[in-house]
Amino acid sequence: MSLYWSDIVHRLSPYVPGEQPALAHPVKLNTNENPYPPSPAVLAAIRDEVGETGESLRRYPDPTARKLRETVAAYHGLAIEQVFAGNGSDEVLAMAFLALLKHDRPLLFPDITYSFYPTYAKLYDIVYQTVPLADDFTIRIDDYAAPNGGIVFPNPNAPTGHALPLADIEKLVAANPDSVVVIDEAYVDFGAQSAVSLIGRYPNLLVVHTVSKSRSLAGMRVGFAFGDAKLIDALVRVKDSFNSYPLDRVAQAAVTAAYADEAWFRDCRAKVIAGRERLSAGLSALGFDVVPSAANFVFARHESHDAATLSARLREKEIFVRHFKLPRIDQHLRITIGTDAECDTLLAALRELLDGSAA
Ligand SMILES: *Cc1c(COP(=O)(O)O)cnc(C)c1O
Repeated sequence: MSLYWSDIVHRLSPYVPGEQPALAHPVKLNTNENPYPPSPAVLAAIRDEVGETGESLRRYPDPTARKLRETVAAYHGLAIEQVFAGNGSDEVLAMAFLALLKHDRPLLFPDITYSFYPTYAKLYDIVYQTVPLADDFTIRIDDYAAPNGGIVFPNPNAPTGHALPLADIEKLVAANPDSVVVIDEAYVDFGAQSAVSLIGRYPNLLVVHTVSKSRSLAGMRVGFAFGDAKLIDALVRVKDSFNSYPLDRVAQAAVTAAYADEAWFRDCRAKVIAGRERLSAGLSALGFDVVPSAANFVFARHESHDAATLSARLREKEIFVRHFKLPRIDQHLRITIGTDAECDTLLAALRELLDGSAA
């Protein structure tokens, strides 16, 4: 606290990201990064952009990220006016909260979901109400029937990994013509149906994507919003009141190249999905109850071992998983799908920990 802080700073509750340990070879299964590298075409595009001398870096990047947006629009069968690009989908979401979700009526989101949503709500002084998930961690769309100033959740949801079918998303969007429904599809590529196909028919639907998970580019910080041109225009107005150049040259070139290598994308995705089924089976065999996941992580609890203790003991072995000290989920661990070797290291460590305290 300081005399110099504004009122806003006093009431913030900043998001706490998963640990990025300063270790040479951690088994890092705590922030849902992709365990496989990006396409070689991405590296080539980065080298091309920078060139021998770095001459291009002297100049500002394209403030509209036109080429990148064109590429991604074509990829999804959208018009460029239906695509917004930002510095990571967290930034895109932050702009959407300010541009589209700040209204008189409360914003609705699940009680168990991405913990950045309440953080943004506090930043912008947006009134919100949480809607409890069912006991099996599913989102019941009928529970969102209350008057609202907007609705937001990830599909698949985080940190549960549970996905809603597209028909449910459409029902929700159709039932709320007076407010914007934001579907955060950070994990959609790993097994859920995307709502991008609904955009032409619903002017109140905003779909948010990221390259951080399925495209192995968390370090590049690029995310997108897809929606009706009027919604995108609102985001552009906020962006241009904040930072004209949120995406640097290297990021624009790298991500444009990533979307051109579909074979690489599919191959990595298939490996992560196979790894998920393998890890889920391994955890079940050790006595974990694993929530069926459509994402690149699993959410699991052990029938007889405390989650915080397990997480701390794994950390001593330089194995990082995510534990949330929150109501309803404080006995769960969220575990990112790593390479098969990383998952095997985790399973071996867990086996040792569980055996060691069996008495
Ligand atoms: C990882 C994640 C994001 C943020 O992605 P960035 O593009 O890296 O900012 C957004 N929403 C959810 C639900 C996520 O898990």
